[in-house]
This record gives sequence, C-alpha cells and structure tokens, in this order.
Amino acid sequence: MQNELMQTAAVILAAGMSKRFGSSKPLAPIGRRTLLEAVVMLARGSGLDPVISVVPPGLAVPAGVLPALNSAPSSGLSHSLRIGLAAVPAEIEAALILLGDQPTMALRTVRAVLAGAANDRRVVAARAEGRLGPPVLLRREAFAMANAAMGDEGLRAILIDHPDLVTAVDVQLHAPDVDTLADLAALGEPCPGCDALFQPVRQDATHEYIGASPACWAAFGEVLAREFGDPRYGWIHRHTVDVYTVQHPGLDERRQRQSVALHLIGLCHWLEHGKGMRELNPITERLASGGGDWPWLDPPVTYALTVRDVLDATTSAEHGALVRQWAEETWRAWAPHHELIRRWASEALH
Ligand SMILES: [Zn+2]
Repeated sequence: MQNELMQTAAVILAAGMSKRFGSSKPLAPIGRRTLLEAVVMLARGSGLDPVISVVPPGLAVPAGVLPALNSAPSSGLSHSLRIGLAAVPAEIEAALILLGDQPTMALRTVRAVLAGAANDRRVVAARAEGRLGPPVLLRREAFAMANAAMGDEGLRAILIDHPDLVTAVDVQLHAPDVDTLADLAALGEPCPGCDALFQPVRQDATHEYIGASPACWAAFGEVLAREFGDPRYGWIHRHTVDVYTVQHPGLDERRQRQSVALHLIGLCHWLEHGKGMRELNPITERLASGGGDWPWLDPPVTYALTVRDVLDATTSAEHGALVRQWAEETWRAWAPHHELIRRWASEALH
C-alpha cells in the first residue's frame, strides 16, 4: 500500500523519439491497450494521483491524465524528466517516475518502491542484479536533482554518484524496455479476457467456456492451488473465483451469461454489503438453479489489475490485500452496469 501520509504523483515519460520503433511508440497496441494506456493503468492501480504524462507535440493522452508537453523531444529523457517534474502540482510531496515504454512494469515493483518511501531518504529506486532503475520515487526536495541529468541518461548516473540519498528496493528483475517491434512481441500474448500478457504455454487446455488464454488459465490454477493449500487463504477463495470469472466473460451464450451475472452479484455483495463466502454460496446456488436467462453485458476493455498481479504475492496478507484491490478495480471497471447489477443483487436477497 502507498504511504497514506504522502500523496504521490505519477510522471510518465512518453516523449521519446520512437526512432528504432518506426511509428509512435506510446500509441503502439499491446492487447486492447496502447503502451501509454498500459502504464497509465499501472499508475492508477498503484494509487498514484495525479497521473502526468510527458508527451511530444500532437500526442493525445488518455482521459484523466495531465499532459506535459515536450516540444523538443530530441533533447532526450532528461529534458522530459524536468518538464514532468515541473508539472507536479505544488501541494504534492513526491513523484514516481515511470517510463512509457515499460508496459509490463509489475504492480508489485511499484508498490515496493512506494513502500520504500517510508524512511527519510529523498529518493527510492528499484534495484535488480545490483543495478538501480525505474521506477524512481523522488520526494519534492529531490526534484532539483533532475537539473543535473544529461541526455538520455535520466537519473541513473546521479543516483550511482549519490548512494547516500537513495533507498534501493530489491526486486526480482527490471521491466524490459520496448525499443523495437520485436521487443513488443516478446512481451507475450494478451489474454482475450483480462488482457494480461503471458508467455504462451504449450498445452492448450483452458476452461470449457471461460474466455481465458491457456497461460492465464494456468496462472489462475496456481492462485487456486495456493488458496487450497493453506487455510490462511481460505476466506478469500470465493472472491478470487468471482473476480476471475467476471474478467473472462467468454462468448455470448446462456451458461456464460449466467456465470458472469452471478459472479458480478457476488462481487457487489462482497464489496458493497460486506458479505463473505458463507453467505454468498447459498445465494449463488439458488440463483443458478432458478433457470433464468441473463442478458449479455458488454465487458470493460481492460483492467488495472489481473490475476498476474495476484500471483506476485509472497504472503497470505499480501495475497488477501491484492485480491481485494483486484476485486475493487474490476468492480469499478464494470461501472456502466452497476445500476443493473445492484438491482439483481438486491433482488437476490429476497
Ligand atoms: Zn486472463
């Protein structure tokens, strides 16, 4: 969780020249999003507010993002960094720098760097294999460090020269940069349901009618195995199934429409009425045996959190918190249907 005392802005650097990429890199599609949208969703899912993006002339930012224009993108990453930091509103105490060409930066890494801000150093950075890298969190008193940054180096050289100012947070690996179309393809294949990227798995076994890629289905299997294998996860299991099902609506056919409707009702009962597994299961069983036909609801385009993020948890407490956040972000994404689902949820209680 983000340090609740310190509001932190996201500064996404997306004004690179796309020289090696060939076309506008921030607008390149990755699943159903663009690279820039993927990083914006990560920023939102991490609780960063406001989200600022440094962009070249002519590039529109996603809704709700504050644009900061870099009219000389050839001046390099450091120039973008200064423009982005200058756009952080005066009342915000810190900024987390993200790169617009790292769409697979893990939520877990961002959370770890934000948590690292709970000490008195001015800078927090991720460290993998002994090397510092993004995301970098700067407290406001460290914003001026960007003045010494040169060319495309960003803050790297400065952080190496001033280890005393930096809290290094060890992470498993640095997110890969996307410089070329080949880099983009190497990130994996998007799941047709949740849009998360996975390396393809060999077997093509997936659920009979749930709309997940085999690799995503395998990731869900790992999460379930964790929950079945340890009693500390038991209470969360029902909610995990609700969120995963809702993110993978599959095809518009009777069984699948019912499944999505019943699990959306389950999410509503949990998040808005605090109902747990023991209360939810009999409601779902009753509705499922009712034989009704449920309408198809157009699903959201994409989600801030997916089963991938839950898989990254290392303790039962972290797992529980991530499932809760995954559920909240998913429920929020279904907002156009909230009114209808709330009515179903209320009728289901009588
Ligand atoms: Zn999926």
